[in-house]
Amino acid sequence: MRLTTQGLIVKEQTVGEKDKLVTAVTTDLGVIRAFVKGAKNIKSPRGASTQLLCYSQLVIYSGKNQDTYIIDEAKVIDMFSKLRRNVENMCLAQYFCELAMHLCPHGQPAQNCLKIILNGLYLLSENKRSPLLIKACVEMRLMCYAGYQPELTMCSGCGCYESDNMYFIPKSGILTCDKCLTPQQLPYALLLGKGVTRALRHTVYAEDGKLFSFNLPEESLILLNTATEQFMGYMLEKTFQTLSFYKFMAGVLRNSAKRNMN
Ligand SMILES: [Zn+2]
Repeated sequence: MRLTTQGLIVKEQTVGEKDKLVTAVTTDLGVIRAFVKGAKNIKSPRGASTQLLCYSQLVIYSGKNQDTYIIDEAKVIDMFSKLRRNVENMCLAQYFCELAMHLCPHGQPAQNCLKIILNGLYLLSENKRSPLLIKACVEMRLMCYAGYQPELTMCSGCGCYESDNMYFIPKSGILTCDKCLTPQQLPYALLLGKGVTRALRHTVYAEDGKLFSFNLPEESLILLNTATEQFMGYMLEKTFQTLSFYKFMAGVLRNSAKRNMN
C-alpha cells in the first residue's frame, strides 16, 4: 500500500547511523510509526522534513512489520520556525506531542485532532494567544475527541445553568452549584466562578473554528488549567513527563526574568 497523507512529526528517534524512526499524527491513519531511511544524511530532504514538529506532506508505504510504515517522500508544509526560538513554547509544544501520541486515534483518520494541535502550534508560534489559554483548549478538545467529555451544561444536582459559586468536580467531570455540593464532593471540588466556568464550557462545547477565541485574565487561566489538568489526571490516571518539564522550565524562566528585573 502506498499512500499520500499529511502528518505532524511528534517523536523522532535515531536508528543505527543513518536512519530514524518517527511517530507522526497523520490525517488518514492517525498516529503511526514510520522509518525514514537515510534521514541522518545532511543532504537528505526527507531528513529535514521529518524533524520533530514538522507538518509535512508524506508519501508512505507499509513496511514488513504491520505496525510500521516507511516514509518515501516528505515535503514540509509548515515547520513552525518561530516556535523553535522560544524555549518555554517549545516545551509546551512537546507536551502537545506527547498528548497527541496518547489521545489521537491509531490506525484511523485523525483529521479533527490534528487540526486542533496544528492550530494550537500556530497560535503558540505566532504569539497570538496566551500559552495557558492554548494549553487548556488543546487538552480539553483532545480529551473530548478521545471520548472523555465532561458534562458541563448544568449543575448535576438541581440543573441550574449558572450560580455565583459553581464547582467543578474533576474526578467525575461534572459541575455542581454551592447548594448541591455534597460533603463527599467537597474534598475534590474546585470553585470556578462565572468566568472560568464559561471558559471551561467553551473548551468543551465551542465549535472547532472558535475554540481558541476567548479571553481570560492570567489568574483565571491558571485556575482553568488546574481544572483541565486535574480532570485529565483523574480520567487518564497518567502523568505526562513533558508537562512536568514544561512547568519546571516555565518556573525557571519566570524566576530568572524576575532576577533580571531586580
Ligand atoms: Zn445545583
